[in-house]
Amino acid sequence: MSPSSPLSRLCLHTITTKPWSTEQCISRYAAAGVRGITFWRYNLEGRSPEVVGRQAREAGLEVVSLCRGGFFPGRTAAERQHSVDDNRRCIEQAKDLGAPLIVLVCGAVPGQSLVESRKQIADGIAAILPEAEAAGVKLGIEPLHPMYADDRSAVNTLKQANEICDALGSPASLGIAADVYHIWWDPDLESQIHRTAQAKRLFAFHLCDWKTPTTDFLNDRGLMGEGCIPISVISQWVDATGYTGMREVEIFSNRYWSMDQSEWLSCIMKSYQELYA
Ligand code: ZN
Repeated sequence: MSPSSPLSRLCLHTITTKPWSTEQCISRYAAAGVRGITFWRYNLEGRSPEVVGRQAREAGLEVVSLCRGGFFPGRTAAERQHSVDDNRRCIEQAKDLGAPLIVLVCGAVPGQSLVESRKQIADGIAAILPEAEAAGVKLGIEPLHPMYADDRSAVNTLKQANEICDALGSPASLGIAADVYHIWWDPDLESQIHRTAQAKRLFAFHLCDWKTPTTDFLNDRGLMGEGCIPISVISQWVDATGYTGMREVEIFSNRYWSMDQSEWLSCIMKSYQELYA
């Protein structure tokens, strides 16, 4: 495959084909011409991360990241410590897997102010950064759409994610995962993508689409092209910064998980190739 082929930048998140086992994801993605794989932590259950990482690389796949760490806020210090401990385990898993990046879904607590949650998020990241740096694993804050501000993430824009990176002294191992599903609506999107890349912290770029109507807040994401996100425009903004990393397809969908997953993978390949033709 030529390095200039769009397929050379195609990565799939294993959750996109959730019915498949870890081993099926590896073999089927490689056979389809996918270049990268982002594992979810459930893929490692009952398995050795070293072995999973080796299987992926031997199949010709680049291990792009591990999803996910985060969920730092908590009502009590004990809850927050529990989260820090879990993130430390995640760093060990990523190191063993050979994943250079952990995507952080930062968390929120219903009823707790978003300002307080963001402070706890910054504290949580600060607590685990030394281990991440020692392990050679980067951390990517993924801002989530504000519909998740109640219980999944108090970080809802690239601006807020950048502010946390700045507040922590802009360490090289801390950056941002930009997912079109979460940030497409942001009036400051182009300038914030530019700012993120200028600060050398654009670590990942995730793709899917926003369906109208969306019937499930979590598990009804669309395939690229079937929704209203201007993916080509956003993608051009990202590439214009000099970003040459993977484009990661990440689709949670009860509808698509109920399909034959080989057919579903064919739909993804077609959609991606049309998008980047
Ligand atoms: Zn994402």
